[in-house]
Amino acid sequence: MAKQRVIIVGGGVIGVCCAYFLAKRGFQVTLVERNKVGSGASSGNAGSVAVGHTPINKPGRIGHALRELFNPRSAVRIPIRWDPSLAKWLWKYRSFCNPEDFETSSRTLSSLGHATLALFDALVEEEDLQCGYRRDGFFEVCLTNNGLEHVKSDVRSMIRHGYRPHMMSGEKLREVEPVLKKEILGGAYFPEGATCDPHRFVLEMAKAAEKLGARILVGHKVTEVLNRDTQITGIRLDTGEKIEGDTVVLTTGSYSQSLTEKFGFRLPVQPGKGYHRDVKFLGQGAASPRQTFVMSEASVFCSPMGDFTRFAGTIEFTGMSHELNRERLDYTTSSAEKYLHGLEDAEILSEWAGLRPCTPDGIPCVGPVPGYLGFFVATGHATLGLTLAPITGKIMEQCIAGDGRLSLEIEAMSIARFW
Ligand SMILES: Cc1cc2nc3c(=O)[nH]c(=O)nc-3n(C[C@H](O)[C@H](O)[C@H](O)COP(=O)(O)OP(=O)(O)OC[C@H]3O[C@@H](n4cnc5c(N)ncnc54)[C@H](O)[C@@H]3O)c2cc1C
Repeated sequence: MAKQRVIIVGGGVIGVCCAYFLAKRGFQVTLVERNKVGSGASSGNAGSVAVGHTPINKPGRIGHALRELFNPRSAVRIPIRWDPSLAKWLWKYRSFCNPEDFETSSRTLSSLGHATLALFDALVEEEDLQCGYRRDGFFEVCLTNNGLEHVKSDVRSMIRHGYRPHMMSGEKLREVEPVLKKEILGGAYFPEGATCDPHRFVLEMAKAAEKLGARILVGHKVTEVLNRDTQITGIRLDTGEKIEGDTVVLTTGSYSQSLTEKFGFRLPVQPGKGYHRDVKFLGQGAASPRQTFVMSEASVFCSPMGDFTRFAGTIEFTGMSHELNRERLDYTTSSAEKYLHGLEDAEILSEWAGLRPCTPDGIPCVGPVPGYLGFFVATGHATLGLTLAPITGKIMEQCIAGDGRLSLEIEAMSIARFW
């Protein structure tokens, strides 16, 4: 019998993980990426496998963003501009920023987190992925009592969902991470977390998928998903060429809208821009950070990645713009100077911005598109795309194979929840 042909559109971390699991299951997989593999949000993120981390629809987030509306240096930025799709999204997002919906989102993401961590461990070992994967947890460090209260509440929530984080004093944190300043009041340790170089992870997963028979086409933009009535039949490339397939999976991150319009729906995804600055610590006798930690009040990650350290974070809703805003970039390191020593002498190695695909309830959209045979989506992973990529790939494999029993309840991730 001929193998079922699956076309995956988008070669970010979600696309390559889908390609891997589908190829492993025996499907004939073609992944099409318009640029290079990992050229979207997936290459420059903080590299944290932040399992159990709380979703974006935290109660109070909208109020905080409104208070900071005119502060270009706040961790969350929503510049005032005319954008009806953003206004609609923010309205929906606001409706999910309440304790009940936050709990629902946390429960879903937590159970995905347990499953994805097991897959990460297995993938790194079985495929010998050279991506600097370190399974040594991560820390969150606070300068203020307010910050500590937020962390305590996250810790309580994570414990309820089966994780083992614990609070730590400032002294204890400085013992494990000597670069931290004496102003750090305390924080928490999240032992289940891991760190890797996200770009190397994407490239290694693409290589592993190819070894299993997946074909990866780069430099080709998909301009249309083809259908005959309700049956998906393939895709069209920007060259006009058609590729036939029985199934199409959109893993196009923040760039998904143009491909779904023809089918009369828009994915509820807004780009949440974030930045990174990679640095090398140079000062005399200066120690580089050894541990991955989040600077709580600043919402910036510090992630050591071999011979450089990445400062990554902040979120701004400025549409599909990749423009590097100097002030926001500076914020990644200027805010960090309050937390750690040595940055004043650090050399900047690279600067980057990426668009996180964000849904209003913080839960990704993963699964079939209702009303069409062979049409699937996997996007909207917001701040947790790297973290949830392996479990997303596994779920997509199970959905497309038509497994009776899915490894996790995927109803919570259905795009139909927004219709
Ligand atoms: C500053 C920052 C820090 C972050 N830190 C973390 C972290 O520590 N841990 C974590 O888990 N997550 C983190 N994230 C989030 C994570 O990076 C994203 O959730 C994830 O990369 C999304 O992956 P994706 O594959 O859906 O999208 P992308 O990586 O954007 O991939 C989509 C791909 O589709 C391609 N594409 C789009 N349209 C087409 C088309 N028509 N034809 C062909 N190809 C197309 C694009 O070129 C792109 O390569 C962070 C994000 C940012 C911005």
